Amino acid sequence: MKCEGCGVEIQTENPKKPGYIPESVLKEKVENNESVVCQRCFKLKHYNYLLPVTINSNFSHEIDTILKDFKTVLWVVDVIDFDGTFRKEIAEKLKRKNIFLIVNKIDLLPKRTPYENLKKWLLLRIKEMGLNIQDDHVRMVSVKTGMGIEKTKKLLLQTEKEKVLVVGVTNVGKSSFLNRLAGGEITVSAYSGTTLKVLKAKLPNTNLQLFDTPGIFTQDRLCDFFDIYTQVKMIPSKKIRNKTFTVKEKNVLFISGLFWLKVLKNGVNNLPPIITVFLPEEISAHRAKEERINDLLHNRKVLFPPYDENFDFNQIEFEREIVQIDKGNDIALPGAGWLSVKRGPLIVEISKPKEFRYVVRKSMK
Ligand code: GDP
Repeated sequence: MKCEGCGVEIQTENPKKPGYIPESVLKEKVENNESVVCQRCFKLKHYNYLLPVTINSNFSHEIDTILKDFKTVLWVVDVIDFDGTFRKEIAEKLKRKNIFLIVNKIDLLPKRTPYENLKKWLLLRIKEMGLNIQDDHVRMVSVKTGMGIEKTKKLLLQTEKEKVLVVGVTNVGKSSFLNRLAGGEITVSAYSGTTLKVLKAKLPNTNLQLFDTPGIFTQDRLCDFFDIYTQVKMIPSKKIRNKTFTVKEKNVLFISGLFWLKVLKNGVNNLPPIITVFLPEEISAHRAKEERINDLLHNRKVLFPPYDENFDFNQIEFEREIVQIDKGNDIALPGAGWLSVKRGPLIVEISKPKEFRYVVRKSMK
């Protein structure tokens, strides 16, 4: 069988060689009579022909070269995955720039989210990051519904007349944003002095040009432990759910099949902690008794992702750590969602992939 994108022979053995597709995905595509494209072609298509790059020294150098030419930068982040997308490595590079922070996917927040509080919270997080961003340059938007887009465009045109660089982690909605702002007139070109490709888009009826950079791949978000097809399935499509759990001593709360926490001790007056989970429906939350951990891990149907029964857990190195989290704090799970401690303190043993980085933060609300 050949890839319908590049014509190379399809194989399911080696992810590093051409033509790779995971076996389970291949089976699903064949069963559903869908076109089969290899991992590389899938990425190219998904990322609008700007293949994402990982933050390494080469990319870092090239982005510095590009940044020299820009005073103004649009940094697109995802409100659902704020801690996975509003990242220090990117902030460091943008310190002296005029930044517009585009906080996208506001439509996915639960109903009745108080936007004023959210804005305050965002401003606090920006300050903690050591960035100086003008209050009205922090834009809460939804490319999907169009919320906040026209206002952002107006502000941008007032500030910058020439050119603006657009940056962001993969899947935050960077290219959707660019398309929405600029319409169809978009061309791909190499940026001089670098091997990085950029997309250049002109805002209709203005002289303003937007330069889109390749999306940045991370390696420490929950989604990063899965193949590209699963990652795309994990992108939330509907409002995220919130569900509240009372988790007694020695009970476990699973988030997907890769992260779980065991409550080691009840809190004040021996009351069990109460935790609200904010997750897209594509990611499971499941409470169980400690004795059931192994069972559940071997029968992962209730714990997803992975959605694939044949997922090889041996490729992931897990670790455990004990932490205390106080009431009013969140545990952000980059690439998934977050947990909010409603009644604490919470003294837990967390089990997770070694490279997965969770973040304890002040609660979003
Ligand atoms: P990029 O990798 O940052 O360029 O992201 P894309 O523009 O390709 O978008 C990634 C995914 O997020 C796509 O499935 C989009 O449909 C989705 N998306 C983008 N913006 C929004 C938004 O405002 N709300 C919602 N719900 N989904 C969005």
